[in-house]
Amino acid sequence: NRPSYIFQTFLYAAILCRKQSMKVAPSLLYIHRAASEGYSPVIEMGAPRQPKVPVGNFAFFEDEFRERLRGLLQEIFSREETFCQTEEIRKCEYCDFRSLCKR
Ligand code: SF4
Repeated sequence: NRPSYIFQTFLYAAILCRKQSMKVAPSLLYIHRAASEGYSPVIEMGAPRQPKVPVGNFAFFEDEFRERLRGLLQEIFSREETFCQTEEIRKCEYCDFRSLCKR
């Protein structure tokens, strides 16, 4: 249930983990917060309104992420699943596939 840009950083982290052996910490730099004391760009995980844990080493999350990614891709490419346009029209504004899905 996280925003898509969090997914994007995790996808990059998963790719990077396979390319080199150093720890990978998926991060997002929020410029407007960067000058705040104690600010860290590292993505944090945790249940809503619970203490969060920074993802300082993506290796601990990689297996679960890849498993969920595989499930998502199977769903996308499944012949049993029909394609449904999103009901959130706002998402279509910057979508590269608008001409394909005829929205
Ligand atoms: S334009 Fe893109 S986001 Fe909108 S329904 Fe089509 S594929 Fe989905």
